[in-house]
Amino acid sequence: MTQLHDISREKSAELFDKAKNYFPGGVNSPVRAFKSVYGTPLFIERGDKARIWDADGNEFIDYCCSWGPLILGHNNDQIREAVAAQLYKGLSFGAPTRLENELAELILSRNSYIEMIRFVSSGTEAVMSAIRLARGFTKRDKIVKFDGCYHGHSDSLLVKAGSGLVTFGETSSAGVPKAFADETIVISLNDKEALVEVFTSFPNEIAAVIIEGIPANNGLLIQDSEYIHFLRQLTAQHGTLLIFDEVITGFRLGFEGAAGYYGVQPDIITYGKIIGGGMPVGAYGASKALMKYISPDGGVYQAGTLSGNPVAMAAGIAALEILVQPDFYTKQEETTKRFVETIRRYIAEKGYEVQLFTVGSIFWFAFTTQSSIKRADDIDPRSMENYKIMHRALLNQGIYFGPSGYEVGFISSAHTESDLDTTVAAVKIALDIVFQ
Ligand SMILES: *Cc1c(COP(=O)(O)O)cnc(C)c1O
Repeated sequence: MTQLHDISREKSAELFDKAKNYFPGGVNSPVRAFKSVYGTPLFIERGDKARIWDADGNEFIDYCCSWGPLILGHNNDQIREAVAAQLYKGLSFGAPTRLENELAELILSRNSYIEMIRFVSSGTEAVMSAIRLARGFTKRDKIVKFDGCYHGHSDSLLVKAGSGLVTFGETSSAGVPKAFADETIVISLNDKEALVEVFTSFPNEIAAVIIEGIPANNGLLIQDSEYIHFLRQLTAQHGTLLIFDEVITGFRLGFEGAAGYYGVQPDIITYGKIIGGGMPVGAYGASKALMKYISPDGGVYQAGTLSGNPVAMAAGIAALEILVQPDFYTKQEETTKRFVETIRRYIAEKGYEVQLFTVGSIFWFAFTTQSSIKRADDIDPRSMENYKIMHRALLNQGIYFGPSGYEVGFISSAHTESDLDTTVAAVKIALDIVFQ
C-alpha cells in the first residue's frame, strides 16, 4: 500500500487562521477555501513558468493557472515587462488611452465573430452587461441558462434548476430576489427536447439563451456540435439572442474561442480570464448594430471607473500578441493530447473507473465509467470523494490541481515536456492510491 507524507502547511495554516478574522471563510472567493479537499488552503508566495511556491516553501507544478487566465504560465517575461513599463506612466486615468485601441484592434482584426467590443473588469461584469444588452435590444425580460453552466455571480444568473423539464429557476444564493429567479429559466444541457419546449412555453418572451462556449465550470461537459448548431438555429427563429459565455473558452480554444471551434455565430460573446493576461479584464462583443445599443450611443447603460485600465490593457496586449503567433494553439493541443493519452493508457491498463475528458488545453478527471458526460446531472456527486484522495496525493507529490473535483485543469505553454512527465508519474501514483 502506497503511503505519501503530507506536505507541511504550518505557515499556510497560520495565515489562514489570520485571514479568517478578516474575510468570510478566510478567503476572497469561496472555492479558495479548500472546502472540497483535504487540508487548509495553501497561501501562494510566487509563481514562475509552470510552478508556484507556497508560504511553507513547497513547490508545485500548477494546473489551476489562476483558474484559466495564465495560458502562458506564471511570470511571463513579455507580460511582466509590458506591465512594468506601463507602471511608470500611471496606473489609471479614467480617460481613454491608446492601449484600449491596441487591445481592441488585436482582437477584432483576428476574431470574425464580433465587430465591436466593450472592456470591463471581470467575467461577471461582462456577462451581466451582455444580459442587459440582450434585454434592452429585444425588449424582453426572460433568459434561459443551462444547469451546470457558471456565468459569474450577477443576480439573474445565481439561479438553479427547479423540478420539471422547463420551469422557472430557484435562486441558488440567499439575497437574490425571487422576482429575478422568475425571469431565468434553467434547462439541461445537450437536450433538444427541453430547448424546443422552452420556446413553446414562453413564445416571444425570451431575450437570450446563454451558454458557456464549452461548459467547463462544473466538470467539462462537451456538447454535441449538432446540438450547438440546433441551439443557434432555434434562437434565431424566435428572435432570441444567443450569448456565448467564453470567459474560459475565449482565447483558450483557439483565438476565436468556442465560436471558432464550432463555426457558430453567436449574437453576443463574453470574455474574461485570458483576455487580461492575468490582470482583471473582462469584455463583451457583438455586431456593430447590436453594440450601438450600449451607452453613450444607446440606451443600455454600462460603465466602469477602472474599465480599460491601462496596466491591465498592457498585460492583455502582451499576452494576446503571443497567442496570435502561428501554431500557438496547435502546439498547446498536441501537448495536452499527449499528456491525456499517456494517462488514459495507464487507466485502461489498470482498469480504473475514471475518465479523462479533454478539449483544447483543458482536461478533467471524472471518476465514472460513462464514456461521455454532457449534462450536470450525469455527474455522480459521490465520485468527488475519489477526487479528494487524488488531490491530496498530487499535492503531496508537488502537483497543484484545483481544489474541487468539479473544476477542470489547464495546461499552459510554460508546462515543459519534463513537467508533464513528472505529472504523469505523480498522477499514476495518485490513481493507485485512490483505487488501492
Ligand atoms: C470565471 C467565469 C465567469 C466569471 O468571471 P469572474 O472574472 O470570476 O467574474 C463567468 N463565466 C464563465 C464561463 C467563467 O468561467
